[in-house]
Amino acid sequence: MEQQMTYGSDYKFIPATSVKSGESVEVVPGIVCHTIQIVNICLIGDPNTGDFVLVDAGMPGSAEDIISVSEKYFGAGSRPKAIILTHGHFDHVGAVIELVKHWLVPVYAHELELPHLTGQEPYPKPDATVEGGMVAKMSPLFPREPINLGGNVEKLPPGGEVPHLPDFRWIHTPGHSPGHISLFRDKDRLLLAGDAFVTVKQDSFYKVVTQKEELNGPPRYLTTDWEAAKNSVAALEKLKPAVTITGHGRPISGTELSGGLAVLVQEFERVAVPDYGKYVDEEK
Ligand SMILES: [Zn+2]
Ligand SMILES: [Zn+2]
Repeated sequence: MEQQMTYGSDYKFIPATSVKSGESVEVVPGIVCHTIQIVNICLIGDPNTGDFVLVDAGMPGSAEDIISVSEKYFGAGSRPKAIILTHGHFDHVGAVIELVKHWLVPVYAHELELPHLTGQEPYPKPDATVEGGMVAKMSPLFPREPINLGGNVEKLPPGGEVPHLPDFRWIHTPGHSPGHISLFRDKDRLLLAGDAFVTVKQDSFYKVVTQKEELNGPPRYLTTDWEAAKNSVAALEKLKPAVTITGHGRPISGTELSGGLAVLVQEFERVAVPDYGKYVDEEK
């Protein structure tokens, strides 16, 4: 099975970084958010038993970093029960093949994301013309060819249950990608939002570098369906999350989160949707 796994032919290290790169924070007990260059991964588990699940798989070339942060929190030689992907963009699957080979664990993703994870379908071209800054202009460099996890990736169970995380449910939050999911834990209203919305304005390279906090819609240059993206943010806002970890930017909580989400929903067109760009113009 291992031999079947390949990255796309355009897979490569992307030279991008932020001030938070390499930092880990235990956001609530048992939930670790670790920043790799400009993207976050989450470890969800119990340091006492060493059982954990990894959510997302970082940037290209980050496998050693992910293994070492896993061992730091869950013990030497520890390995997760599974890897759950919020979606299959290059910055969320960058180390997944090395990790599957190292840990021999299954990967789960939404059914609609599987064509991008089994070598069948590339993602649409990033929109370098979208209103925005340096990151959008860099986006043609981003890998978009599908990776192929072969038989190592499975679709998430249809009922919303999350393998090995009985307290969580997954919620389909498309728009940024067709099979994008978020993870929610009802007991403390913890939300892992992936790229459904982010807490840094990605269009400005400056803000990615400094990770200045700002509740924003999904990263613009890769988002293809703005209507679905808006509905997804509205659905997440209805959950009234108390703490949120997003794919990019810092974890946020409390009124900063509730107020920011309310504004994002009410003024989605102004705040999140770019004024111009091919995925905007195509839909109008
Ligand atoms: Zn993404
Ligand atoms: Zn992302």
